[in-house]
Amino acid sequence: MTLLIDIKHPQWMKDDELRAELLHLYPEADIRTGDCPGNLHEVEMLTVSSYFPGEALQYPNLKVIQKTGAGVNNILADRELPKAVQVARLQTDTSGNEMAEYALAFVLQEQRHLRQYHEQQTRSEWNSYPPCKAAETTVAVLGLGRIGLLVAQRFVDNGFEVVGWSRSPKDIPGVGCYAGADGLPAALKTADYVVSVLPSTPQTRGMFNAGLFKSFNSRAFFINVGRGDQVNETDLMQALDNDLLAGAILDVMSIEPLPADDPMWLHPKIQLTPHISGYHLGDAIIDIAENYRRLQNGEPLLNLVDLERGY
Ligand code: NDP
Repeated sequence: MTLLIDIKHPQWMKDDELRAELLHLYPEADIRTGDCPGNLHEVEMLTVSSYFPGEALQYPNLKVIQKTGAGVNNILADRELPKAVQVARLQTDTSGNEMAEYALAFVLQEQRHLRQYHEQQTRSEWNSYPPCKAAETTVAVLGLGRIGLLVAQRFVDNGFEVVGWSRSPKDIPGVGCYAGADGLPAALKTADYVVSVLPSTPQTRGMFNAGLFKSFNSRAFFINVGRGDQVNETDLMQALDNDLLAGAILDVMSIEPLPADDPMWLHPKIQLTPHISGYHLGDAIIDIAENYRRLQNGEPLLNLVDLERGY
């Protein structure tokens, strides 16, 4: 049984590197890379990060597409994805903790007025501002899955008031939980920071629009580490221009890489990073080798995506 690695994202991870790690875990596996795939009929498992529509059709005996990350919207968007092909993702606390660190870093940047101090340094100005207190600051975490829970916990541990929002009701110590469409305005109402860790699904795509930005607190910062297609970026810029919210920190955008002429690059209230908030896979790589073994033995796979739900 052949596993083909075709990540298509060499700046982040090279096919050969992942192949070496997987062979270390499973020396007898038949693992090939995108530059040397051999007979495509032999490929039963495909490991990707980027994925293009119709890609699965190149492999007539494909049984599973294994994403090297948590978000699988690029695969599920493929209208030609054969029904028999299962989709698995990775669930990684390593990336989740990095995303929690990312969100906390930007929150602390604002709490301690670091942007203002940097700006006033360019003018040789000496003005001081009181730090905002964590206990008097509310962080709303949208999406309370594997990663959202780690993000919420990081803010609880740092003394913030934390509320969370998910599809199904939750009871999480230290976190005020809201669920469902009706619960969202309440979760947003008091938030000084809104951190989105939502997957891209038919329900979440485009949800951050002009209507929803009216529910934001005008002092709120929006931090998006989920997926860019959840945000109507024109509405976001208008909402920022109209002071419906104070700023946005975007790690994910609707088009990546963001085109050089996109107005978000120069918007004074937007900070951008190139989809790096969750970077390392850590031990989650073991699950790729384990899924290979399970597929070979006809056992149920780890971290299968619910294709109906979209995550
Ligand atoms: P999970 O599937 O574990 O959790 C998803 C969470 O979102 C769940 O709490 C779920 O609710 C909630 N949710 C889904 N749909 C809705 C909805 N319509 N309304 C309210 N809540 C909803 O995913 P992960 O935590 O592992 O990952 C989340 C996302 O993070 C990924 O899909 C990916 O897009 C993004 N990501 C980004 C990275 C980056 O570097 N920027 C890196 C890794 C992931 P419920 O619990 O009720 O099911």
